[in-house]
Amino acid sequence: MQRKMKRIKGKRGIKKRLLTMVLYPILILGVLTIIIGVSLIYAFYSNSIHDELAATTKMMLNCLELTVRGDYQYEDGMLVKGEINITDSTMLYRIKEESQIDTTIFWQDERILTTMESDSGISAVGTKADEDVIGQVLEQGNPYFSRNVEVLGEKYIGYYTPMENGSHEIVGMIFAGKKKVSVYRDIGKIVIWFVAFSGIAVILATVVSVTYSNKMLLDIATINQYLRNIAEGDLGVTLDERIEERRDEIGEIGTYATKMRKNLQALVEMDPLTSLFNRRSCNRKLLSLMEQEDIFTVVMCDIDYFKKINDNYGHDAGDYVLKEISGILQSSVENQGFASRWGGEEFLLVYTMPVKEALTKVEDIQKQVRKFPFAYEDKKFKVTMTFGVQEREGELPYEQLIKEADNKLYVGKNDGRDRIVE
Ligand code: GH3
Ligand code: MG
Ligand code: MG
Repeated sequence: MQRKMKRIKGKRGIKKRLLTMVLYPILILGVLTIIIGVSLIYAFYSNSIHDELAATTKMMLNCLELTVRGDYQYEDGMLVKGEINITDSTMLYRIKEESQIDTTIFWQDERILTTMESDSGISAVGTKADEDVIGQVLEQGNPYFSRNVEVLGEKYIGYYTPMENGSHEIVGMIFAGKKKVSVYRDIGKIVIWFVAFSGIAVILATVVSVTYSNKMLLDIATINQYLRNIAEGDLGVTLDERIEERRDEIGEIGTYATKMRKNLQALVEMDPLTSLFNRRSCNRKLLSLMEQEDIFTVVMCDIDYFKKINDNYGHDAGDYVLKEISGILQSSVENQGFASRWGGEEFLLVYTMPVKEALTKVEDIQKQVRKFPFAYEDKKFKVTMTFGVQEREGELPYEQLIKEADNKLYVGKNDGRDRIVE
């Protein structure tokens, strides 16, 4: 119970940590991009408005200067330059039409020609400039830029340039401005697009990272499950090939886990001398085969007078014989069953075929063993084997099956050895 809880806790931990590691930088980067991006857009737009308004006032002054010669005068509601009456708002309205910029010509601090009007359509003609504008422009002769110009309840961003006569006497001002609402609407549009694109980029990066992380976590969980199965004694499990094909540490862990499983499997299931299955794993394999297949044949076989080989040529010669005979047995069952070392010089073969076919295989083994030129150091000798062959019939239980094969081997031994009993 405790173990299980610990494991689940660990699993959640790595997922949480990995997602935190991936998502926080993306979110922080996204938020920073938006903050810096919006600030830059605002700064850029403000600068470009300043320049646009300044250029408009200069352009108006130049137009007046170049087209009509002489000084400005204002009398009886008429603005005169030199000899010509220039009390005409056409230029101002043309500018407004083309660039949505409101312009005004001041005589001293009073608006005498303007496109500015209130919501209800009342013209700003006759209204006055603020104190700070008067101080900066009319008294000191400087241009003046303000983000807070208020005329008839409407807020503007505006630029004032002094209007001078030939003697540099300041007689009025030229103003160009844009309604704050429309400026912020324009900035808003750009900001919305920018935020939307940044948001989409953050979402895409998140989706890609989360998908990739989840895939990685899934592979880690698969290896975890694989190792758990091995730890619990199931050495026949296999690992998804995809994991071993990964070219990273996770793939390496998978490869080592599989190597470890195979080595453990060999240690636990195989006989080290003959490389055949040992008796324990043979029992397990046979029991599982009984659940899958109805027809198969078992062969209990034993080397004849093996003790004599040990006695005559030495224990190592005995080992050599065991290895050579195991090679013959293994190639006989290859892909059609399995061979195991049942104990000492006794083997149990299992063929996934009816007894008739298995018999030809066993006869072949008998022939091969008989004619095999056993030679150890300078000693040459012959070896024979005795076989007890038993097909699995009907519901014959496991113990009975082995016992029958064993009995037949015993019969063969008693009958003089080197024979097959079925
Ligand atoms: P039978 O024909 O009746 O089978 O006679 P046998 O001599 O083959 O049978 P017995 O049971 O009398 O002797 C088997 C011998 O096998 C005894 C044991 O020392 C030997 N032996 C068992 N395991 C090994 C091994 O791993 N290596 C060697 N060299 N000898 C082994
Ligand atoms: Mg023997
Ligand atoms: Mg024996």
